Amino acid sequence: MPESSIYFRDRIATSDDKGRRKWVFARLPKGRLTIRRHWVALILLTVFFTLPLIKFDGQPFVLLDVINRHFILFGNVFWPQDTYLLGIAMLTFVVFVVLFTVVFGRLWCGWACPQTILLEIIFRRVESWIEGSAAHQQALKHKSKTLGWYTRRIVKIVVFAAIIFLFVNFFLSYFIGFEDLKTAWKTGFVDYQRTLVALIALTLAGTFVYTWFREQACTIVCPYGRLQGALTDNDTLMVAYDYKRGEPRGKTHDLTNQGDCIDCRSCVQVCPTGIDIRNGTQLECVNCTACIDACDSVMTRIKKPRGLIRYASEKGILTGAPLKFTGRMVFYSIVLGGLLLFLAFLIAQRAEVETTVLRTPGILFQRNEDGTLSNLYNYKIVNKSRRDIQLTFQLVSPQGKIRLIGSQPFVKKGAAAEGVFFVDIDSTLVTSHELKTEISISEGEILVETVKTTFIGPIKP
Ligand code: SF4
Ligand code: SF4
Repeated sequence: MPESSIYFRDRIATSDDKGRRKWVFARLPKGRLTIRRHWVALILLTVFFTLPLIKFDGQPFVLLDVINRHFILFGNVFWPQDTYLLGIAMLTFVVFVVLFTVVFGRLWCGWACPQTILLEIIFRRVESWIEGSAAHQQALKHKSKTLGWYTRRIVKIVVFAAIIFLFVNFFLSYFIGFEDLKTAWKTGFVDYQRTLVALIALTLAGTFVYTWFREQACTIVCPYGRLQGALTDNDTLMVAYDYKRGEPRGKTHDLTNQGDCIDCRSCVQVCPTGIDIRNGTQLECVNCTACIDACDSVMTRIKKPRGLIRYASEKGILTGAPLKFTGRMVFYSIVLGGLLLFLAFLIAQRAEVETTVLRTPGILFQRNEDGTLSNLYNYKIVNKSRRDIQLTFQLVSPQGKIRLIGSQPFVKKGAAAEGVFFVDIDSTLVTSHELKTEISISEGEILVETVKTTFIGPIKP
């Protein structure tokens, strides 16, 4: 019996009994799911390389300027004052991840995770062009190394580093903007030392991960992978081996006592994490679907129905019921959709200008010689738009006027302005001790916001 079938519960497939690394020589998969995954990867990579180049209204379409706390998401600008939205977005994201994983398991890992796309779809293929097939690499492992082997190994590392370098450049442009990245290159990084350090550090780290660390990022480091045990249950969708149909496995000709699995180990040979899916669900499985394609091609060859390994839930395998969209999946999907809609609503409702007007503490009212009463107010205006704005205050109700100390407020984009003003109201109109007051804030003719406050007058007998 192969070692992976005996010790799979005691240690991960990529380590031996002494804890030493066992290198995975995964065969490249072929099949309908592999083709689909490649298409999805192509779309995602196109989005990744295109987004930083897109401009909207003269600014990047997406920018995550963490250092200056300035974010642009799909044309919407977010300033530090929108931190509450970031909090809600993160909360929504966490709930989304939990619900998504409960229903769809590691679908993300297999189809959209950058680590899987880079390692399985790009680097493993480049590696096979340079060093030969997985079987060839494995055969050379214990042979004495020739000059050709070392040359190919060096070429591989250089090519990997070059690809990672390209990715890191685009990755950094999400944080500093593509224009700044171009300027950094043109000026030799004179004013961009931090960018240069990040560029070198990430390229080195990426080269290390994809030339040596590889699948261990998923099986040992990734926190999402470690969470699977807590988030999935018997109804969760996953890549699963149909043991009821496959067992007892073997190559005998006694078809009456034999399941559909012919123990050819094709599914193990293509597995990038080195596991045998026939042992059941394992944390190392990244749901890459390579074993589904490998087994399907075997089933086609021996004229059996495909799907001995397939997307299914544990319960589905046990009962033999075909995969269907259960009520729970529908419910969770509705909740997921609702959460996203809620976030979209909050973003759409977000005001470009936020004004706070508060009566100056410790001061009641003043009587003026012209028969009016005055209250003093402090204001603060936050401009979240992409332009500088000149605003004007006007008293909407009751009748009276606003007397600004200084000029009408001018607020730079992404900045805040503070100041004070008096509200003067004819004493005959101040009919109560606390008068409801409404103040409009306009940009030219356009009403931007209306704020409510109170006006304090004398206590009437
Ligand atoms: S590829 Fe299919 S038939 Fe071959 S060992 Fe795996 S499960 Fe069995
Ligand atoms: S068991 Fe199958 S789906 Fe899971 S990682 Fe291995 S090949 Fe991919």
